[in-house]
Amino acid sequence: MIVMKFGGTSVESQEAIVRVTEIVRSYQRKHPIVVVSAMGKTTNKLLEAAVEAGAGRREQALVIVDQLRAHHLVHGLPLAGAASAELDRFIRTHFEWLDDLVKGLAVVGELSPRSMDAIASVGERLSSLVVTFALRAAGIPAQHVDSRRVILTDDRFTQAQPLLEETYLLLKENVRCLAETSVVVMGGFMGATKDGHTTTLGRGGSDYSASIVGAGIDAEEIQIWTDVDGMLTADPRIIPDGHRVKSISFAEAAEMAYFGAKVLHPATVLPAVEKNIPVLILNSRRPEVGGTRITPDAVDCRNAVKSISCKRGITILNIRSTRMLMAHGFLRRIFELFDRYATSVDMLSTSEVSVSLTVDNQENLPLICEELRHFADVSVEHEQAIVCLIGENIRHTPGIAGRAFQVLHTTNIRMISQGASRLNLGFVIADADLEPAVFALHEEFFSELDPAVFD
Ligand code: ASP
Ligand code: MG
Repeated sequence: MIVMKFGGTSVESQEAIVRVTEIVRSYQRKHPIVVVSAMGKTTNKLLEAAVEAGAGRREQALVIVDQLRAHHLVHGLPLAGAASAELDRFIRTHFEWLDDLVKGLAVVGELSPRSMDAIASVGERLSSLVVTFALRAAGIPAQHVDSRRVILTDDRFTQAQPLLEETYLLLKENVRCLAETSVVVMGGFMGATKDGHTTTLGRGGSDYSASIVGAGIDAEEIQIWTDVDGMLTADPRIIPDGHRVKSISFAEAAEMAYFGAKVLHPATVLPAVEKNIPVLILNSRRPEVGGTRITPDAVDCRNAVKSISCKRGITILNIRSTRMLMAHGFLRRIFELFDRYATSVDMLSTSEVSVSLTVDNQENLPLICEELRHFADVSVEHEQAIVCLIGENIRHTPGIAGRAFQVLHTTNIRMISQGASRLNLGFVIADADLEPAVFALHEEFFSELDPAVFD
C-alpha cells in the first residue's frame, strides 16, 4: 500500500487532473491512497474571502466565492463523466453553504480561527471529490473518505496538531481495508476535533496529511507529487543545469528545506520518519523522472556534498556588548528579545565581545534593534545571503571547508557556521556575490558525480 499526495498545481486544471488519473492508474496494483491539496490557488482565495467577510465586505467576499465556484465547475465537472450531475450537485451544495457562511460572517463582522478553518478546508473537501469522480470516470474504482472522519486533531484552529494514536487507529479501521479494493481519495490539510469541528494543519499541511496517513496505514512508501523533479544539487534559478539528487537522508532533506529548497517542510514528514517509511518527491508533469527518495539513513555517496542550498534576502545583525566582555546573561537577553518579537534566527556566531546573527524576517527589526541598543551596540547589514553545503559525509571528509573557501578566495565571507547539525557547512556572503559563488562551488563539488546518487 502506498500514499500518493498531489499538490495544488498537480490538480489545478482539467489537464492536470487527467495527468493525475493516469499516474494513479500506473500505481494501481500498489493500492494507493490518494491525498490531494486544493485546486491551484484555492486556499489563498478562500482565506481572502474569509478576511473580506470578517471585515464586513460582503460583496467582495461573494465575488471571490463566485470565481471559485466557476473554476471548480469548469475544471472539475467535465472530468466526472456520466456522474457529472452528482458532482455538480456536490460542488453547488458546498458553495451554497459557503455563500451562507460568508454572508453570516459579514453580518457579524468577525472572523474566528474556527470559521477560518471551516472555510479554508472547502478547497480540499472539493478537490478530493473532484479527483474521486475523475478516477471513476477513467475506469478506476475509487472511494472518497472525508478526512475529518479519520484525522483527529486538537482544537488549535488553523495550526491543529493531529492526535496520532486515535488517528492511526481510525485510519487502520476505515482506510486500510477500503484501499484493498479501490483507490481511496482524501483531502489533505484538514481534520476535525473530537467533537467534530473542522480544523486545518497549517498552510502547506497536505504533505503533513500524507505523512500521517502513510504512518497510520503502514504504507510501503509515501509519494509527494509536485511540479519539480525532486531535490537538486543547487537552486535551479541560479544553476539551471544542476543535477537531480536521487536519494538523500531525512536529515539532509531537513537542512535543505530550512535553507531555501522549498520542496518539503521537514516537520511534515516526521510521522513517516518515525515509522521508517521512505518519502519520494516526484514531478506530476514528468512522471518518468525518478524523483528524489528520502530515506531514514544516508546511502553511501562518493561526493561529500549532496547539495548547495541558499537563502537570499538575509539581514545580519552584529551585536556588541557595551561592557568590555560579554557579561553573563547577554545571550539570554538577546534571544529573549527575538522570542518576544517572534522573529527566528537562522545562523549565529559569537566571539568574546560580540554576536552576529542572521534573520530573514525584517518586520520587527527596527523595534528589536531599538531594544538591543539599551545594552549593546548594533549594526545591521541588509542584502546578504546564506549559502549551505549539505551532506552527511561533510563531517568526516577532511578538506571540504578548504576547498570551498579556496574557490571563494576573492569573496568576502561575513559569517561561518559549522557543527550545529554536523552535516552542513554554512556561511553568509553579500547577496551580490551569491550567483558567482554558487556557480563556482557547484563546479568544484559537482564536476564529478557518483552515478548512484546523482542524475
Ligand atoms: N491547500 C493548503 C494550502 O494551500 C494545503 C496544501 O496545499 O498543502 O496551504
Ligand atoms: Mg503545497
